[in-house]
Amino acid sequence: MSDKQYVNIPTDVQDAHYRYKMERMNLKVEGRGNGIKTVVTNMSNVAAHLKVPVSYPTKYFGLELGAQSKFDKSNDRAIINGQFDYPQFETLLNNFIKKFVCCYRCHLPECSMTIDKHENIKLTCSACGHISTVPPAEKMATFIIKHPPKNKNTHVKANAQQGPVKADVTDLVRRADEDDEEWDPDVSDEAVRQRREEEGLQGRLAELAMDSDEEGGDKKKKKKTANDDDEDEEDDIVPPVEVLKNFLSLKKDATTKQILAAVNKIKEDYELSDKDAVCLMYESFFDKNIEKQIQKYAPALKPFVENSTSAQKIILGYTEELCGVKESSKLLSKVSVILKAFYDQGLLDEEVIVEWHSKKKSRFVKSSSVVLKVKEAAKPFVEWLNSAEEEEESDDEDN
Ligand SMILES: [Zn+2]
Repeated sequence: MSDKQYVNIPTDVQDAHYRYKMERMNLKVEGRGNGIKTVVTNMSNVAAHLKVPVSYPTKYFGLELGAQSKFDKSNDRAIINGQFDYPQFETLLNNFIKKFVCCYRCHLPECSMTIDKHENIKLTCSACGHISTVPPAEKMATFIIKHPPKNKNTHVKANAQQGPVKADVTDLVRRADEDDEEWDPDVSDEAVRQRREEEGLQGRLAELAMDSDEEGGDKKKKKKTANDDDEDEEDDIVPPVEVLKNFLSLKKDATTKQILAAVNKIKEDYELSDKDAVCLMYESFFDKNIEKQIQKYAPALKPFVENSTSAQKIILGYTEELCGVKESSKLLSKVSVILKAFYDQGLLDEEVIVEWHSKKKSRFVKSSSVVLKVKEAAKPFVEWLNSAEEEEESDDEDN
């Protein structure tokens, strides 16, 4: 096996600390005479790093070189007729990346591709929020429109008859509320947008949903510009956390059943795993007022968290982050109280808490001094658990 080399996306970025990398293309020339062809033996890995279907760069090479090209699925390689060398392919791939992968404003490969109802290819940047429009004259554009990306993060109009995700908030409220018309249906674009601005994008969930293999931790904020009233905005991808938050704020008296129905609908729409759903709920339910919020939202979390060690670890990780980083001035001193509230609601098991408490590292909080502070703050509760161990064995079975 050849060892893999990594290069910048695109390769002409000169920044030594640039963190967007793709596998360097591996080329092989095969055959002779009229049958000579250039093979990219790792096109699928390169495409995966670019988060585009492998057919896109393959087709692009063919179109630009006026050569036949195809992706040979069974052997996992892209074949372009004719003899070409690496610099030629590198230039082409860079052009492809600049047109179809990177944001036209910040130039980072942080975009998800969607096709809007006018068949424009849009690149929505999760780094800066800009929505780029690919020039429709591109030959390649026609191919993409015929073969839209199947990325689960994108909402491609071509395969989705229902409206934009933004409308789902309204839909969720309507579903929750089929019998009473009490709530104030202020789901105007303006209200939604305003909330969105206030709340920003919840990076972790977006990252989880993206299956990104890059190190996370960056604050990826998607901000709408104040006067972005382009009608195509509806093709924007609204993070699921915002959908749920909007639902909760529009439907303040939602019952557990209604909240769960909303969560499950979002889960389905965004193809989220159970773990993702726990993240979605934590991010949507809890903020600096978590003490009060636990009681209200625990029943909705319960089906996902009870008896699931990994879900409970997510709860602990988020709590660490909320109390140690995001709201540390208010909540660091309350870690024990908060953990006890989760425990009392049956959302955290003793063993999971004790094990978590013994760990010096956290997946959610990078700074080890912060982790230490949180663990220190959790000590009274953990000690209480240990001492109460014998008596408190199992009296939270009822809900
Ligand atoms: Zn950008």
